Amino acid sequence: MSDLQPLLARENYLDEEWLMAAQGRCIRAWPVESEPYCGDPSDPASHYRFCTPHDAEARDNPAYGR
Ligand SMILES: [Zn+2]
Repeated sequence: MSDLQPLLARENYLDEEWLMAAQGRCIRAWPVESEPYCGDPSDPASHYRFCTPHDAEARDNPAYGR
């Protein structure tokens, strides 16, 4: 998974988010109780290790910047 973007600082993640991001899984919050995170493979270009559609969405969202 060395082709992914470096992880952000540890304090930016909840414990579960950290584990998923370290595994290259999308940690975009999912508004369904049974599935709190997206979990799709991270896009190599995503600074948040989101999957491709979620990274595109985040880039358009002022709350995430970048
Ligand atoms: Zn996703």
